[in-house]
Amino acid sequence: MSKELKAYMGYNREAGACEGAELIFHHTSREACAMFRSQGTIDCDEFIDYAVTKLDNQDWFAHFKAKDEPHIQDDLPTCQHCDTWGHILYYGICQACWDTLEPDKPEGGTDD
Ligand SMILES: [Zn+2]
Repeated sequence: MSKELKAYMGYNREAGACEGAELIFHHTSREACAMFRSQGTIDCDEFIDYAVTKLDNQDWFAHFKAKDEPHIQDDLPTCQHCDTWGHILYYGICQACWDTLEPDKPEGGTDD
C-alpha cells in the first residue's frame, strides 16, 4: 500500500469549486475529506456539502507540497485576475484569463 500523498481539492459542493477551494495533501479521499471538514477554511452549511476531488496532474501539484505529511496547503499561487489556483500562471495570470485579456496584457516581466 502506498503512503504517498496525493493532491485533492476540497470545496463546498453546494456553492461549487469556483466559490473557493483548498488544496489538500493526503493518502485517500476519505482522509482528505475528514481533514478538510476539521481544518479547512471553507464553511459548509451541511455536512454532505464538504466535497473532495482527486486532482488530475498529480505530478504538477506535487510541486506545491510543503511537507511529506498530510496537510492543507496555503499560499498557493493564484491568478491575479480570477483568484483561482491550480493553473500555470503567466505573469501571475492563468491561461484562461490570459486568453481573454487581449490587448491588456501586462508588459515586461514584473511578476511579484
Ligand atoms: Zn485567471
